[in-house]
Amino acid sequence: MTQAQLINGKAVAEDLVTEVGRKAAAFTARYGVIPGLTVVLVGENAASEVYVRNKVRTTKAAGMNSNEHRLPAETSEADLLALVGKLNADSSVHGILVQLPLPAHVDAQKVLNAIAPEKDVDGFHPMNAGKLATGEKALVPCTPLGSVMLAKRVHPNLSGMEAVIIGRSNIVGKPVAQLLLMENCTVTIAHSRSRDLEAICRRADILVAAVGRPEMVRGSWIKPGATVIDVGINRITGEKGKSKLVGDVHFAEAMAVAGAVTPVPGGVGPMTIACLLSNTLDAAKMQMAAKA
Ligand code: NAD
Repeated sequence: MTQAQLINGKAVAEDLVTEVGRKAAAFTARYGVIPGLTVVLVGENAASEVYVRNKVRTTKAAGMNSNEHRLPAETSEADLLALVGKLNADSSVHGILVQLPLPAHVDAQKVLNAIAPEKDVDGFHPMNAGKLATGEKALVPCTPLGSVMLAKRVHPNLSGMEAVIIGRSNIVGKPVAQLLLMENCTVTIAHSRSRDLEAICRRADILVAAVGRPEMVRGSWIKPGATVIDVGINRITGEKGKSKLVGDVHFAEAMAVAGAVTPVPGGVGPMTIACLLSNTLDAAKMQMAAKA
């Protein structure tokens, strides 16, 4: 049986980090300023710790400045907002990332809305979401950006293709839909209330799964030859009781039907961090241009 093409997100992300590093060096040579990303982590969350460690390591590898603020779980919303205000005013900080989830007593949206839009490298501020929706230049959420880059590795021109996104979150599903619309796809957003999800998915030339349900998308949901972008990251107990990561797509079944598939891990995940660095450099450039 022929197998689908494996989309190697890790390799694409490594290339992107190298390219961003090269451009960051050129930026530094021109302006005498090193682009800087500051990550704020509140409380102790094992998954967040791993993400933050990877972000810090990759930022440094690209020759950019990386700073962290680790705050205790009991940090008040007011104190967190005060820190964001301080970082907004610090010209050496070009990108601010507040790692989610935040403790329950903190209004996460309020904190994200307090980040200066020009430093919002996660692209979650309503100003950036609005700009993306209206087609203005914006800082675009990293996972959606990386997902569409991977789809374009298979089809550099997505124009006219039928795209289905499963999931309508503000951080993944909706921005992926906006980006694919900008690529002139015909876009459908499916979600938990959609009827006959399988039939909707089978229409897709580009199928993006961003749900958070392990291996929900089966081979029979996939149009033969389709490109499948699996955003989901789910930890399950595999053989011999060992824990492992799987996506929202049943990988082996997808490989037997699709034209191209992103693996989990090693697909969209590494692209998220690479796009974060790219956004930090873009943010630094925009801030420099605004000063001129
Ligand atoms: P979310 O929980 O905010 O949204 C999930 C979406 O899936 C919702 O819109 C919901 O309507 C839809 N949904 C839920 N059950 C469904 C069902 N049975 N049928 C159809 N739709 C259903 O999640 P999110 O933050 O958008 O993340 C989605 C997945 O992507 C998660 O697994 C998350 O871990 C992963 N993720 C990965 C990265 C990365 O770097 N690769 C980044 C962010 C999120």
